[in-house]
Amino acid sequence: MTSSVLQSFLNENISALKERGLYNEIDPVQGANGPVITIDGQKLINLSSNNYLGLATDERLREAAKEAVDSHGAGAGAVRTINGTLDLHLTLEEKLAEFKDTEAVISYQSGFNCNMAAISAVMDKHDAILSDELNHASIIDGCRLSKAKIIRFDHSDMEDLRTKAKEAVESGQYNKVMVITDGVFSMDGDIAKLPEMVDIAEAFDLITYVDDAHGSGVLGKGAGTVKHFGLQDKVDFQMGTLSKAMGVIGGYVAGKTELIDWLKVRSRPFLFSTAVSPADAAASTKAIELLIQSTDLNEKLWKNSHYLKDGLKKLGFDIGVSETPITPCIIGDEKDTQKFSKRLYEEGVYAKAIVFPTVPRGKGRVRNMPTAAHTKEMLDDALKAYEKIGKELGLI
Ligand code: PMP
Repeated sequence: MTSSVLQSFLNENISALKERGLYNEIDPVQGANGPVITIDGQKLINLSSNNYLGLATDERLREAAKEAVDSHGAGAGAVRTINGTLDLHLTLEEKLAEFKDTEAVISYQSGFNCNMAAISAVMDKHDAILSDELNHASIIDGCRLSKAKIIRFDHSDMEDLRTKAKEAVESGQYNKVMVITDGVFSMDGDIAKLPEMVDIAEAFDLITYVDDAHGSGVLGKGAGTVKHFGLQDKVDFQMGTLSKAMGVIGGYVAGKTELIDWLKVRSRPFLFSTAVSPADAAASTKAIELLIQSTDLNEKLWKNSHYLKDGLKKLGFDIGVSETPITPCIIGDEKDTQKFSKRLYEEGVYAKAIVFPTVPRGKGRVRNMPTAAHTKEMLDDALKAYEKIGKELGLI
């Protein structure tokens, strides 16, 4: 029997979301998440994945995953600290450390749980965290879990950060103070001002944490936002995910050996949740090896991104402050945004509407994620659909 309190809570809240156009319907994909996907039997140009380099469907990753299943089985069998650390996990961490140019790496089951794990392993209720107001949900939740005082600073506003860092440090109230930011902001595609942030961190002895979920594989010829700015020795935590450009699943922190050793004994998902499967670890390792060997995919990604962005701008769309492949088309009103995305779908383009609470109210957008796997023809077809619907809805 369902609790009546739960039933009325669900009924009221679900209908309220639906009325405001904020209820997110899930579209199951039939088959692989490549540059063209099938939904409900319809083929669509896919501009909504995080599969930046097309590696999620790459033949070399598939082979690596199959071999790992044959040699190591389907699952890791235990948490990392009991006996779930397989040789494949260690190889992945060694490759990642080489790729990130750091002493060591710890890997986790996802980027989300990596942020939950790593922040709370180091910060506690006697500490403070300076957090960019547009940081990803997993950073926000990781900070909350730590019980540290969370001090939000205005998005990428380094003067605000400096003022708040000074206040926090000079108050003498906190044992440790951390500054935490996305490397690339996932909804607008702008890049964090890391050089200024690192200067402020040095001035006030702040711990630095960069979530590079959208920078890894993309900026710094693939090595990420920190490398893009040449700041490898100046950032304490370089967090990343294996689920986006790397095409698989998993998260990691790259940093100094002592930090990684500490995370291995203190981060709870590492201690209490089973390690990623052999197939995941081996496919991720293959992805990193490919990126170390060649920047071809990275170059293709940028070429496609410039092409799509230029095309949208020429049509008269507002792509905001994007500096990376993440290309929002800002529409504004939530219902208009949903309508735009729905019309794109009807014209054969899958570009998801992103509305409150993922972005602020009135800042609804259709977010486009070009990848290295798209062809010029696919991008041209997408641009044609944008032009048609933009005119139809009076947006351009
Ligand atoms: N950080 C950021 C900035 C992200 O965009 C995401 C994914 N949406 C995550 C962390 C979580 O990564 P994962 O999907 O690997 O859990």
